[in-house]
Amino acid sequence: MSSMSPHTPPQPDGATPDRYSPALGPAPVTAPKPALHWLIPRFRDAEQEHAFQEACFPDTRTALFLLGIGGICAALATIHGAWTYLPHDQPGYSPGQTIRMLLLLGSVTAMVIALRASRPSTLLRTASLVLILGCLTLALRMASPPPEDVTLFEALFHVSRDGLTVIMVVAMAALTLIVGHYAINVLIFALALTGFLLIANNWSEGLANPVSLTYSFATAFVFVLALSHGMQRMRRHIFVARQQLQEANAQLHEIAIRDYLTDCFNRRHLYTLAEPELARAQRHGTPLSVLMLDLDHFKQVNDNYGHACGDAVLCQAVGVIQGRLRISDALARIGGEEFVVLLPETELEQATLLAERLRQAIADHPFAHAGQHLAVTASWGVAAARPEDANVDVLLDRADRGLYLAKKSGRNRVCVEATDIEPQTM
Ligand code: GH3
Ligand code: MG
Ligand code: MG
Repeated sequence: MSSMSPHTPPQPDGATPDRYSPALGPAPVTAPKPALHWLIPRFRDAEQEHAFQEACFPDTRTALFLLGIGGICAALATIHGAWTYLPHDQPGYSPGQTIRMLLLLGSVTAMVIALRASRPSTLLRTASLVLILGCLTLALRMASPPPEDVTLFEALFHVSRDGLTVIMVVAMAALTLIVGHYAINVLIFALALTGFLLIANNWSEGLANPVSLTYSFATAFVFVLALSHGMQRMRRHIFVARQQLQEANAQLHEIAIRDYLTDCFNRRHLYTLAEPELARAQRHGTPLSVLMLDLDHFKQVNDNYGHACGDAVLCQAVGVIQGRLRISDALARIGGEEFVVLLPETELEQATLLAERLRQAIADHPFAHAGQHLAVTASWGVAAARPEDANVDVLLDRADRGLYLAKKSGRNRVCVEATDIEPQTM
């Protein structure tokens, strides 16, 4: 079982996403400040920005899917509008429709690519394409003069100021929901808006006051920018807060399952691990064994060398045992100088052999503290799970009886309940 890794405690400072990043690990020394970093919502640490985009990927894809549908609908509407209301023999009609068809095809293709993308980078590249195609299609459609005496339904397919509002709504959705490439997306929508206003102001006869139109929609666009910018920053704050919460939870979990002195598992976690293992062994008839060990004459270690030395010996003993276990085995401290080793998929015979190897390793280990060298031994009890074992305590009691026998018959030895294995003399 792995030991606890050191964590940097989270230090939220409630500031910008840029300032959060050091709390989650050292910022790369070479990371340059992106140009206009105060204006573009992104993490200064490229790795963190990447992690954020990865985490947002499913949401981004859904947003793109919906926006893509919007773009396709808009393209279809302009094709239908031009086909219904414009004279087909008008110069420029056929090239116009061809361009619109190409835009439609482009939107569909870009959306399909976006749907198939499995990584944010590909997705975001196609996203910009889908959106710019949708917006340009709308802008093109709005370049046509509005027909007279149209019904409301017909007007919906034709030019109106609502088209500008659509650009704003799409821009708002794209800038808010799609993470990454913020500056590029801003540029795309700024160009689409400018293009539309230029075309509409020059060509459209239906617009009473082009200057006021330009003024109001430029102002609206600044609002869109401010809101989407705030939203993007907020999403990054939430991401960081969630990351810190997850780290804190992981740390709390480690604290809850580990012994504070030796860092091996604690008694409670031994039961958490052993209960399902026992149930699994009994259900599938697979072997499960436990070792219980107690350091010999440990009180004398404390008395002769001091409590700090005793603590050091406990930690060193854990190191000796831990280093000889499989990843699936678990070592837990169940009392002062008493430990249990849980051995899934292990027969009694193998467990006894392992206990003997561990006993020898402890006896051979050069325990030392503050220049003092001392000999330490341990007594071991071994037990294997049986089908009739009602719970983990029954199994541990059997190992405890083995341990008792080992103590009674001279210490520094391995016992399996009534069976005594000859101790190796030191
Ligand atoms: P035996 O061979 O019969 O096990 O003898 P023992 O001296 O090891 O047994 P006993 O139970 O009498 O003493 C256990 C000692 O372990 C008593 C206690 O001071 C010490 N101990 C328990 N927890 C800790 C700890 O966290 N640190 C240190 N240094 N000593 C501890
Ligand atoms: Mg002891
Ligand atoms: Mg004891």
